[in-house]
Amino acid sequence: ASKKNGSNGFMLFDETMRESMALRNETLRDLKLALPKGQFELYYQPIYNLLTGEITKAEALIRWNHPERGMIRPDLFIQLSEESGMINELGEWIFHEAATQVAEWRAKYAPHLQVSINTSPIQYRDKGFDIKNWCAHLESLGLSGQALIVEITEGLLMESSSAVKAKLWGLRDAGIEVAIDDFGTGYSSLSYLKKFHIDYLKIDQSFVSNLSAHSEDFVLCEAITVMAHKLGCTVVAEGIETEEQSLLLKEAGCDYGQGYLFSRPIPASEFSALLSNVSRQSKVCQLASHA
Ligand code: C2E
Ligand code: MG
Ligand code: MG
Ligand code: MG
Repeated sequence: ASKKNGSNGFMLFDETMRESMALRNETLRDLKLALPKGQFELYYQPIYNLLTGEITKAEALIRWNHPERGMIRPDLFIQLSEESGMINELGEWIFHEAATQVAEWRAKYAPHLQVSINTSPIQYRDKGFDIKNWCAHLESLGLSGQALIVEITEGLLMESSSAVKAKLWGLRDAGIEVAIDDFGTGYSSLSYLKKFHIDYLKIDQSFVSNLSAHSEDFVLCEAITVMAHKLGCTVVAEGIETEEQSLLLKEAGCDYGQGYLFSRPIPASEFSALLSNVSRQSKVCQLASHA
C-alpha cells in the first residue's frame, strides 16, 4: 500500500483519513464502555496560595485508563465525548467522584479544601442536568456548596439561552464558586464577569509560559489581575513551571497558582499523602508556636 501511496498524494491523504476515522470509531466504541468498566480516574493538581504557600484547592483532571493504549489524556477524548453526547453522563460521574473525594479530604485533613471540576458547555444545554440533584448529593455528604468550584469556559457566559443562564445562577444559589478557565483565550464580555459574580479567573498557561520581567505577557497578567480584583474576582495562574514565573505572577498580584513547578496532577492516593504530610507539619508548627 505504501508504494501506491507514494505515487499519489491524494491516496496518501485518503489512507490517512481512513486510518484516523478508524481510530476515532474505535475510540468512540471503547469510550462508551469506559464508564461502566470503571476506566476513568480523577487526578488532582494542588493549587497554592502564592503568598502563604498553602494548598487550599485542587483541580480535578480526568484520565482514562485504557486497557491497551494505557493512560489517555483528556485532550484525546473530551471532544469526542462532547460530540457523542456522552459528556453529560461523564460530567455527572466527575461531579460525584470529586464530591466524594473532597468530603473525605475535608473530614481527614483540610476542612476548608475546595475541589475544582471542569465542565463542558454541552452539560449546561442538557435538559437532564439539574443543580438540585447536585445540591442533594452534596448535602448527603455533609458538604456545603463551598466545597466545590466549577470551571466553565469564557464562551459559556456569552450564551444567550435562558436555560443555560438559569443553570449558572443555580450554581451561585447553591453556594458553588465559579471559575473562568483558560481566561484570555476565548471571547468574553467583561461585563459578564460582574453580572454573574464570577469568583475566579484562571489565567491561561499561554500567558505564563513566556513570562519574563519586561514581556508583554507580564503586562497582560498584571492588567488582568488589576481588573479582576476591581470586579471582585480572585486570580489563579495556570501552568507555572519555573521559579521565575512564580515570582513574576506574585509580583503581578496573582492570588493562586498551579503548575509542574509545584506538582503535576497526581492520583487521589498521592494527594492524600501530600495533605497528610502538610497537616502533620502544620500541627507541628502549631505545637511549636504554643511552646
Ligand atoms: P485545563 O482545565 O485548562 O487544565 C490544565 C491542563 O494543563 C491540564 O492538562 C494539566 O495537566 C496541564 N498542566 C498543569 N500544570 C501544567 C504545567 O505546569 N505545564 C504544562 N505544560 N501543563 C500543565 P490535562 O489534564 O491534559 O487536561 C487538558 C484539558 O482537558 C483541561 O484543560 C480541560 O479543559 C480538559 N479536562 C480535563 N479534565 C476534564 C474534566 O474532568 N471534564 C472536562 N469537561 N474537561 C476536562
Ligand atoms: Mg481547568
Ligand atoms: Mg485551564
Ligand atoms: Mg486548558
